[in-house]
Formats: sequence, C-alpha cells, structure tokens
Amino acid sequence: MLSKVLIANRGEIALRILRACRELGIKVVAVHSTADRDLKHVRLADESVCIGPPPAASSYLNIPAIISAAEVTDSVAIHPGYGFLSENADFAEQVEKSGFIFIGPRPETIRLMGDKVSAIATMKKAGIPCVPGSDGPLGDDLEQNFRIAKDIGYPVIIKAAGGGGGRGMRVVRSEAALHNAIILTRSEAAAAFGNEQIYMEKFLENPRHIEFQVLADAFGKAIYLGERDCSMQRRHQKIIEEAPAPGISKNLRHKIGERCAEACREIGYRSAGTFEFLYENHEFYFIEMNTRIQVEHPVTELTTGLDLVREQLLIAAGESLSYQQSDIHIQGHAVECRINAENPETFLPSPGTITRYHAPGGPGVRVDTHIYSGYPVPPYYDSMIGKVITYSDTRKSAIARMKMALEEMIIDGIKTNIPLHQSLLTDANFLAGGTNIHYLEKKLGVS
Ligand code: ADP
Repeated sequence: MLSKVLIANRGEIALRILRACRELGIKVVAVHSTADRDLKHVRLADESVCIGPPPAASSYLNIPAIISAAEVTDSVAIHPGYGFLSENADFAEQVEKSGFIFIGPRPETIRLMGDKVSAIATMKKAGIPCVPGSDGPLGDDLEQNFRIAKDIGYPVIIKAAGGGGGRGMRVVRSEAALHNAIILTRSEAAAAFGNEQIYMEKFLENPRHIEFQVLADAFGKAIYLGERDCSMQRRHQKIIEEAPAPGISKNLRHKIGERCAEACREIGYRSAGTFEFLYENHEFYFIEMNTRIQVEHPVTELTTGLDLVREQLLIAAGESLSYQQSDIHIQGHAVECRINAENPETFLPSPGTITRYHAPGGPGVRVDTHIYSGYPVPPYYDSMIGKVITYSDTRKSAIARMKMALEEMIIDGIKTNIPLHQSLLTDANFLAGGTNIHYLEKKLGVS
C-alpha cells in the first residue's frame, strides 16, 4: 500500500481524499495557500506544507512548489482531486518524472482526452457514439466549412479543441453567421487555451447531460458503474446530480456502459474516469471525457456501494481491480445538491465567516464538506463549500430526504444557494424527472 499521499487540492475534496487515505492506513500530507491554514483537512493531516499566497496560480497551480512539498515530506504519491492541476498532463508527467505516483490516468491519456478533437476521434474509433461533426479540426477553407455545416445541418456549434469549463463555444444558426463565428472562436481559443484548433458539431437543442463512471486498473481491466444525470445546470455549472438517470433502461445502461469500459481497455485507461454524453431522443452522444474524480462521484458511490477514492488509491498502489462487472449492482437512488457560498438570487459569491453551522443527518444523508462554525470562506476560490447527498430505495424518497436535510441544515454568516435548491426540490418538472440542460436557466428567466 502507499505509505504517504500528498493531496494537491483544498476544500471538501481534500478532506474526502484524507478520509479515504486514513481508512487505508496511509499517511497524509496537506498543501495549502496562506489563506487556507485553517482548512479542516490541513488540521487533520499528518503533515502540512504552505505552498504559496492565496491566488491559485501561486499555490494550488504552482507545480514546482507542490513537487518540492512532496520531496521534503517523503510522499510517495500525489492525488490531484478535481479542478486545479487534476487534468494537466504536464503536471502528471512531472510528478512521475520526479519519482512519485500520480493518482490518476497516465499523462499520455490525460493529454489525449484533454484535446477534444483527439478525444472524439479516439472514442469514435472505439465505437462510442459521438455528436455528428466535422471529423477533425476545421481548416480555413470557407467553402469547405460551409459544406461541413450543411452536411451536419444547422444549428451547429463551433468548439475549441482545448476548451473547458463551458468556455470557447459558439452556436451558429445560419450560413450567414458561420464565417464570423469561426474567426471569433478561433481567436478566443488561441487566447484562452493557447490552442487555436476548433471543430464543429451538430448543436443539440434540448439534450440532457448524462455521464458514465468507469474504473480501470493498470492491467487492462475496466468496469462501468452506471450513469449520473447532471442536467440541472446554470452556465454549464452542475447544481444537482442524481444516479441513476431517470428513464434510462437497464439495457441501454448496459450497452453504453460496456462500450465505455471497452474504450478504457482500448486506450489503456487507468483510475477513475467519466464519459460525458448529451442525451436526446433516446440517443447518447459523447462530448468529452473527464480523467479525474468528479464532484458528483458520491451519487455513484451510494448506488453501487463502492468507494471511488479508495479504488483510485488501490489502483495507484498497483493493485488489480477486485470487482468484476457482474459484482456491480445499481441499487436505489441518490441525489446530490451542491452547496455554494453565493447569493441565491444574483449568484454573486458570498465569502465570509460562517458564524454557525449545523449539519443535517438521519437515514440516507451524507454531507461532504470542510466547513465548521467559525470557518472563514475565502474569496479566492470556487464558491462550492460542500455537498449534501441523500440516498433511498426510490427517487421520490431520496428527494424527500433531501428536502428534510436542507431544512435541517444551518449555515449562518454567509449566503448560500440552499433556497434555490429548496425551490427546485418542489418543482413539478424536476419531480417528474428528465429535465434538460436548459431547464434551470429557463426557470430562472435567463433565456
Ligand atoms: P467543457 O469542457 O467546456 O465543459 P463540453 O464539451 O463538456 O465543454 O460542453 C459543455 C456544455 O456545452 C455541455 O454540457 C452542453 O451544455 C453544451 N454543449 C456542448 N456541445 C454541445 C452540442 N453539440 N449541442 C448542444 N450543447 C452542447
């Protein structure tokens, strides 16, 4: 087993990783910015190292500082969590070159999947259904681009190969707007992602976002753990996630899940990963792969009974997967609400000190958070301060438990989006299940 793991992250996921390490008897090194000395996992870690000032670029994205911290503490492996350096192939490569284990896929895989054009080409080859599109990057030949768009059929979407976080995309509804959109997206992509490659896809009007969780070891064994519906989004940011996705049959789950597992075997995927799809008119369309643990992983843990972070640690330690596909049974229903420190009406961040905190509890209630009474939410990072996840035998009962949990939860001193969740949990369309990715913004009157 790994003797000591450095957690290159902060907040709830750092605490989540610390807990998984502790359970396996692994020592933990926390790294933190000067703003994060009082984080819960920093207090609980065996050792901690301050790696820089508050801005992430100087601390949580500071590769030399993180690798030095691993060296001085004799860590053997680094867990990147999500966000920050988790999908940075150069970081993974430097971690390995410096003699540490990167808890995630091989750097080559991160690089391959980080470029959406190469990711789509790879997945297509592996038999994963993709959105009809340009089959590679767009060139400068205007006539040819007109032809590609015409073949796909308007509306189309121009996307940056190196894009992320919902940025670097432009919808085009007619031929008249195509040329400009290509030029604009290309220059934005070059400026924002340092990669001017762009590609074209059919724009799906009313899809749901459904993603498949996979686990693979270093010996070519891969399994899928069912799907999650993450359609409740605002500005491409997920707010509520659930597993399983309402209305997806066992047969379809098996068909798509098997293909994802097979694709993992073909590309030599290692660790936990997620295949993201848009789902419309009973069809799945691959959009991208996330090569890391995701925020919403707990809903899969509750419906499969597996501990995904523990599995990541075991795989990194060189163990083979102890589960067969036939061991995986999706049972019951889980819902996750992301709790953000923000104004529920304006969505502006609401940093500040939490003066009083009471966690909810009871059957089927899990709270993943690093906050406590007196915790100062810093203004420098993502506004998510935790997640409430509820589980029950049915979707209806999991939602009822979520309503109770959020009623019980007290976070004073800052504003949170709990009131927004409470209104969604009584929304007739959400209760019916299967709302699409535009539902929340429409409800909020944004579009
Ligand atoms: P990112 O890496 O920036 O998250 P994705 O490729 O995952 O980019 O797309 C983000 C979101 O953009 C999707 O969840 C969806 O809402 C929208 N989107 C992307 N591609 C399409 C498409 N072909 N049709 C409709 N919406 C799309």
